[in-house]
Amino acid sequence: MKIRLFVDAPLSDGAEVALNEGQAHYLFGVMRLAAGAEVALFNGRDGEFRSVVGHAGKRGGTLICAERKRPLQLPPDLWLLFAPIKKARTDFIVEKAAEMGASRIVPVQTRFTNSERIRQDRLQAHAVEAAEQCGGTYVPEVTDLIQLDRLLADWPSDRRIMWCDETLVTARSALEGATGPWAILIGPEGGFAEPEQARLRSMPQVVPVSLGPRILRADTAAVAAMALWQSLLGDWG
Ligand code: SAH
Repeated sequence: MKIRLFVDAPLSDGAEVALNEGQAHYLFGVMRLAAGAEVALFNGRDGEFRSVVGHAGKRGGTLICAERKRPLQLPPDLWLLFAPIKKARTDFIVEKAAEMGASRIVPVQTRFTNSERIRQDRLQAHAVEAAEQCGGTYVPEVTDLIQLDRLLADWPSDRRIMWCDETLVTARSALEGATGPWAILIGPEGGFAEPEQARLRSMPQVVPVSLGPRILRADTAAVAAMALWQSLLGDWG
């Protein structure tokens, strides 16, 4: 099995990468690698490198970069905006968004959002793990929780928002051919409050889209919306 590891360090031919305790524990304690073993390395910027274990210690170690195997492959310019829900479901949304090719993941606080706090570092770690596992060379940034009103107040004029609106019956035709930067917006379990809906409706960047006649849970809606967007406008070919 090929082991893939995300590191922060710059990667280039011959570069030596120092491992922290957690990485050393994973590679040498859990996966039982020894000096000379191969690990695929990526850092989200420089593509994927073949590397070889130099020193394997209990609390640290080194990997030596050999050659670059794959260039950096960027996802489409698609942000996922979602209202955090219960912990396990929020983790699921972040993992799936990273796998499915979001370029940025933005937890938003809406009127009916239950959680007031998120653990940004934990969610970012989930995005890293998803990239390690799915062969990605890019890791989407997970931002801190931001209030929807504040986010919309500075919204870039050229970035469309695919607003997933369960009250709609119209379909996806509004998306077709609309290339450029996008964001998908998924609401919380309680949906969007009336003033939020009015605000969204008033913005020229917003394109309301239905995901069918059934009301989906927010985590299901996030995956369905990404699949729809990716297949119409993204890199699914
Ligand atoms: N307001 C609803 C539930 C919201 S579902 C209620 O309580 O009855 C959570 C989010 O998933 C919604 O805000 C929306 O963004 C998305 N969603 C769920 N089903 C959808 C559908 N059929 N079409 C579009 N978006 C949907």
